[in-house]
Amino acid sequence: MLINKEVHLNSDSKIPVSTYFGSMTFDQKAMRAKLPKEEFTALQDTIKAGKKITGEIAGVVAHGMKEWAMEKGATHYTHWFQPMTGSTAEKHDAFLSIDRDGTPIERFSGEQLIQGEPDASSFPSGGMRTTFEARGYTAWDPSSPAFLMKGGKDLTLCIPTVFISYHGEALDAKTPLLRSMEAVSKSAIRLLEILGVTGVSRVKTFAGCEQEYFLIDKKFYSERPDLVMCGRTLLGALPPKGQQLEDHYFGSIPDRVLEFMQDVEHELYLLGIPAKTRHNEVAPHQFEIAPIFEEANIAVDHNLLVMEVMRKIADKKGFALLLAEKPFAGINGSGKHNNWSIGTDTGINLLDPGDTPEKNVHFLVFLVAVLNGVYKRADVLRMSIASMGNDHRLGANEAPPAVVTVFLGELLERVLDAIESGKVDLKTEKQVLNLGLSQVPVVNKDYTDRNRTSPFAFTGNKFEFRAVGSSQAASVPNMVLNTLMAEAVDEIADAILAKIKAGKERDVAILETLREQITATKPIRYQGDNYAEALQQAARERGLPNLKNTPQSLRVLLKKDVQDMFIKYGVLSADETNSRLHIRLERYIKGIDIEARTLQLMLKTFVIPDVSEYQGELGNSFNNLLSAADAIGLSGQALSSQAGNLKLLAESFSTLIEMTAELDEAVEKIESFATEFEKADYCADELLPLMSKVRVVADSLEQIVDRSRWQLPTYSEMLFQH
Ligand code: ADP
Ligand code: MG
Repeated sequence: MLINKEVHLNSDSKIPVSTYFGSMTFDQKAMRAKLPKEEFTALQDTIKAGKKITGEIAGVVAHGMKEWAMEKGATHYTHWFQPMTGSTAEKHDAFLSIDRDGTPIERFSGEQLIQGEPDASSFPSGGMRTTFEARGYTAWDPSSPAFLMKGGKDLTLCIPTVFISYHGEALDAKTPLLRSMEAVSKSAIRLLEILGVTGVSRVKTFAGCEQEYFLIDKKFYSERPDLVMCGRTLLGALPPKGQQLEDHYFGSIPDRVLEFMQDVEHELYLLGIPAKTRHNEVAPHQFEIAPIFEEANIAVDHNLLVMEVMRKIADKKGFALLLAEKPFAGINGSGKHNNWSIGTDTGINLLDPGDTPEKNVHFLVFLVAVLNGVYKRADVLRMSIASMGNDHRLGANEAPPAVVTVFLGELLERVLDAIESGKVDLKTEKQVLNLGLSQVPVVNKDYTDRNRTSPFAFTGNKFEFRAVGSSQAASVPNMVLNTLMAEAVDEIADAILAKIKAGKERDVAILETLREQITATKPIRYQGDNYAEALQQAARERGLPNLKNTPQSLRVLLKKDVQDMFIKYGVLSADETNSRLHIRLERYIKGIDIEARTLQLMLKTFVIPDVSEYQGELGNSFNNLLSAADAIGLSGQALSSQAGNLKLLAESFSTLIEMTAELDEAVEKIESFATEFEKADYCADELLPLMSKVRVVADSLEQIVDRSRWQLPTYSEMLFQH
């Protein structure tokens, strides 16, 4: 077998990244080398037009792809897809087949490339398929390049696919995202034409996902059932030193971690993933990796790969990767800042305040469209990032609150205010330029002011959606962003057109529409501290949704106008929306059930035995002291101090035992509810609070029990030992 030299490249080699970047992907360069010119061009055209690949082209592409993959050492291929579990799935098949005359041969047909049929019955369909017709098909998404993934000893050819049912319903997270990109493109092109921008054949949305994560030593991880089963700690007292010193953020990266990062980056580069920045985050053992932004569907695929590669390399390096939103109570949580923008295939970033008057008009119109969309669909956006893990982060007095608002920064605030009030005469000269649209001020770029507490902040030429959970796939939030944007853009286009029809000049129509939109969307703009109580007050006064948890957020999917929006933009049919609702509710209930059962297990097999043993020892020691008290002349006061110590322990211990029994009953009660929403509400409103109450008692015991008897690794060890 001919193994290409890149396979041997490891992160120790000092070769410039650009020389091997993407060498494990079947990218343009590889295609050009492996495909006849005609098929290469045909494939490029199909990709550009977003059309289906014909059987003929597929056969040739499959052959070229197989040759390429085998030269690099691959023996198997898999359709790589995103079932609605929030992660990725793959089923490997060998290229090997046996000819009629018994000769072994490697084969990979066009059919195998464009369509696969994994046994879909084990993937959630949310009721869209009954098991007897559980067929689901994966179909190649040629917009995302095939890649070779290292795993075990070999490389596997991974073909990014969508996953659909026999009847064409989307069974995955990617199909709706692709549909939403189509929808927003169509709406935006129409608006651009009204604004006088022609020659745009596609409007794209872009995403760059900053990924936060924790790395802890694998030894500690494997000794904590909560981390192994649930990805977060269910018990654990805060160490005396937490993150109050803020000495970790942007501090120097420990060598062992840096090596992990370098290996991760190396593998990402081979996969054509443009990893760009790495640094420490706020909490001890918390870090971040951010790539250069790409078109939304690719960025989502790549973010999933980033998570997968990190998990694999962490394991090799003796670390455990924690992607949960809140792995340690009382310590900063992890998010995935989803930087999002919209631009044309001619290279205009529509959220970039440009240097010409015309560009600034586009900018303002699209900016206002974002405000419109986020205001009108704040609840849908909130829904898009609702998950069991993110509930511990959102609204929990740290990073983004559950209330969605938009931060624009001081300058833009003033610009919008000026447009709204009809005053364009801003005092600061440099910020006021003639817009061509007689009265609209030109917006100068100003990246300086930032509000780190905002869930949705404008940062220069993009919006940063910061409420996305660290562990979730970014497909759903981007799908929602694109869809709400398509709707908002249409509304604005309609408004401008109506005014033009009524006889107004285009500039006037645009300006008036801007003004109306600015007024109408004002409640969504919030420049204050989003962690402060004032935000909750503002949300009440302004009527902004404040959906506290996952079950409340998921109810948004029941709303007719929300379902209608997804239908109107061809993103999700009513069935597809309902199936997603069911899957997410079910995952929520099951997830909390698993957490509660893990907590029971830990209490019964770790905490209670540990405390019991220590209590026995303290009891013995006290009894011994009691018998010797007279002989050694110990005062009654001294005796009762020691008795008090024992009593404190015994009382807390009794409370813990009682609460554990209460937890046992509470867990069993989940099944007594008739509907999924009732179960989910019960989990959110009663079971989780009870788990937190038990935890307080267990954590207080952890702080008085002899460390040598405490089996579970502590927060201090997990977070401060390297
Ligand atoms: P921060 O200061 O928040 O770390 P950066 O400027 O480093 O912000 O960018 C963070 C992320 O935003 C990166 O992944 C970057 O590629 C991405 N990004 C930059 N410009 C855009 C854009 N126009 N659209 C989408 N994402 C972008
Ligand atoms: Mg950021």
